[in-house]
Amino acid sequence: MNPNGRKILIVDDNLKFADIMVQILENQGFQVSMASNGNMGIEKVSSENPELVLLDLKLPDIPGEEVLKKIKEIKKDIGVIIVTGFGGEQTAVDMMRKGATDFLSKPVESETLLRAVQNTLKMRDAQREDEQRKGYSSLENFFPFLAHEIRNPLHAISGALAIIERKSDLNDKFLAQSVKIIQEEVKHLNEFVQECLNFVRPPTKSRLTEVEINEVISIAINIISHMFEGFIEKIKISTAFDPKLPKIYIDYQDIMRVLLNIIKNAFEAMEGGGECIIKTALKSNFNSDSIGIVFIDNGAGIKKENLKNLFQPFFTTKVRGNGLGLAICKRIIVERHHGKIHIESEENKGTTVTIELPIHQDIDTAGVR
Ligand code: ADP
Ligand code: MG
Repeated sequence: MNPNGRKILIVDDNLKFADIMVQILENQGFQVSMASNGNMGIEKVSSENPELVLLDLKLPDIPGEEVLKKIKEIKKDIGVIIVTGFGGEQTAVDMMRKGATDFLSKPVESETLLRAVQNTLKMRDAQREDEQRKGYSSLENFFPFLAHEIRNPLHAISGALAIIERKSDLNDKFLAQSVKIIQEEVKHLNEFVQECLNFVRPPTKSRLTEVEINEVISIAINIISHMFEGFIEKIKISTAFDPKLPKIYIDYQDIMRVLLNIIKNAFEAMEGGGECIIKTALKSNFNSDSIGIVFIDNGAGIKKENLKNLFQPFFTTKVRGNGLGLAICKRIIVERHHGKIHIESEENKGTTVTIELPIHQDIDTAGVR
């Protein structure tokens, strides 16, 4: 997240303390403004439109709770971090139920302050993205709605967890483990939400860039190898790249997602060990040329009766799978890049996934469904 120019308002009557916070935040590039009482704070939320407010609970004119309520009425999606003095924690927690995203106890260390500010802004960014995706049909409509409904409580959980982390003795092994489990599960859910949104992402023409596909595949292999660090020794991965491939125009992020999904599936199918080969070649069709990429693994393979379901959203045979990987691949390859994807497999022998990407993308229509 780039802090440059993002507006933060500090509402606090302790000017010395507020000044320190201003300096810490301005050093990072934030644009900071101050209000020394509640009414001025409310006024500045209207006139300056900040993204985030650091709100002191004890103000000379009106209580912090009232300020929170008023500024949320003015700007629903504003981030509010409560800053409390000694003994104000209970009220701060109550205020998190009313829309505050986090709370900090004075004195606040600069690192804690920055982390809280960044977390809150990140949540706001994600929420804003969800809002922008509204307006598509069926799944396209449902996923952003779902994302919003899941992300809101997830943010609250993350915020509350951050407080537990700061306040508790994480030398206690069981407590530390439990915190870690919650963090991982929150991450898992966040990723699921992100996958749902990737599936319905509105296409954008402007994202096409010229790439060497062999290079992109090498990067994907590297990323997956890191993800599977634990048992990568048992898996051999090799490549047979055609060195003479022409460059192609693709949406880099989309195609990277496809490569990661396919290689990840291959690795997951070879948990006991195995071999994966990735080949590229130029394919000349009668009316157009394309680049063929073939992924061959000798993992668990796929049951015959499942072959027809592979590209259905949510079809999965894995305990922790979400079944969106191949559905997204198909959407990206076929609908957004006018290519092809094909899977052959035999149970207990292995799987071959083939994709084809046309060399000449029609830039005007690529990506438009
Ligand atoms: P997920 O990986 O979350 O299950 P995917 O859409 O990526 O979802 O894959 C759907 C299903 O296709 C998997 O659950 C698995 O049964 C099957 N599959 C995909 N790729 C492979 C592979 N390389 N080897 C074996 N099965 C595979
Ligand atoms: Mg998958």
